[in-house]
Amino acid sequence: MLPDFSLRSRNSFGFEVLAEQAYSITDAEQMGAVMEAIEAAGLPWRVLGGGSNVILPPALSGVTLLMDIAGQTITHQDDSGAVITVGAGVNWHDFVLWTLDRGLPGLENLALIPGTVGAAPIQNIGAYGVEVGEYIQSIEAYDCHSKTIVNLPASECAFTYRNSIFKTHPNRYIITRVHFYLPAAWSPRLRYADLAAAFTSDHAPTAEEVMVAVCKIRNRKLPDPKLIGNAGSFFQNPIVEKAQYLQLLEQFPELVSYPEGDEGSGKRKLAAGWMIDHCGFKGMRAGAVGVYQHQALVLVNHGGGNADSVLALAKTIQDKVQDTFGVALLIEPIRY
Ligand code: FAD
Ligand code: NAP
Repeated sequence: MLPDFSLRSRNSFGFEVLAEQAYSITDAEQMGAVMEAIEAAGLPWRVLGGGSNVILPPALSGVTLLMDIAGQTITHQDDSGAVITVGAGVNWHDFVLWTLDRGLPGLENLALIPGTVGAAPIQNIGAYGVEVGEYIQSIEAYDCHSKTIVNLPASECAFTYRNSIFKTHPNRYIITRVHFYLPAAWSPRLRYADLAAAFTSDHAPTAEEVMVAVCKIRNRKLPDPKLIGNAGSFFQNPIVEKAQYLQLLEQFPELVSYPEGDEGSGKRKLAAGWMIDHCGFKGMRAGAVGVYQHQALVLVNHGGGNADSVLALAKTIQDKVQDTFGVALLIEPIRY
């Protein structure tokens, strides 16, 4: 156990956070004994990966489990694809590069997403039209109910848009390893305008080229947490029914939105960043925190901010968007 452990460099907002006790998990075999000890002592606990999707308070009581399980291996490969087993503590982007180095495409659109492999299934990370759940075969996790290590097939993980069983049942499963399946059949997925625009010639790009393009776009549009604290998108894109969308479109003909779900459902995903920008928040500052100047969906810590200040700014934005569009914005990062 590490007493009075600073999480300042383990949360991408860069907030000053002190964990009463931290415990580094480096092996799935530790889980049973560690959880038994926490339960016996009656301590509160939570799990932390890289801290890039959390809003942490200045003090965290009880035990903070730091998921540091390393290692990645190709456990099976044939003509149709490869199964890769990866420790929860492996850095996500390093893993994406590792697969591409071995000629295994599929994850390139998800390059440069911060955080760990173990956290990727939690909100079913997604970018440029690809979601990680599509490439997960199963998940090894410590089940806090049965107190055993279980292996959940992807079909039981309820992966949907930025959601999964792990998010809807917090503190039930602690992910120790992820088994990916990367099919050998591959073609580039360039549905998003920014990504499509990176390739002007007729020749189809390689997965490596897509990864490089994704990194370039992201570096241009998103703040680097090492330089300016943030947790990526602060709000989820709201999904509305057709009737509400058509009403909004009459009032706001410029509204940016995309079809969502089954064709014919008429559901639309509204670009929350556009709505926040429309309300005039882009680039605004509220003391130590603010709205990023190049992407209104990202709230930033200019230095000295904390959970209260960023949540107060979020509330101002949520209220204004609700008044203007009649749409509720939900906060994406997990609050503790
Ligand atoms: P943490 O922030 O440490 O944890 C997030 C949640 O997962 C917490 O509730 C934690 O308890 C839980 N958790 C972590 N590890 C485990 C585990 N092993 N078992 C059980 N629960 C666990 N997200 C996207 O989807 N797409 C993007 O394109 C994207 N871009 C981003 C860009 C920036 C600049 C930033 C800062 C964030 C971005 N994010 C994006 C959000 C974030 O990177 C992802 O959600 C990422 O998966 C979080 O990983 P983490 O290890 O930092 O998780
Ligand atoms: P963008 O490409 O400017 O697009 C703005 C919004 O419109 C995005 O939220 C995206 O939804 C949606 N969108 C754009 N083209 C779309 C299409 N063809 N079909 C469906 N939806 C479309 O977004 P960006 O800010 O530069 O981010 C690029 C990608 O990285 C996005 O996928 C975004 O989700 C991801 N990202 C996520 C986070 C995070 O923390 N969650 C942070 C940074 C970037 P989606 O968000 O649903 O894709």
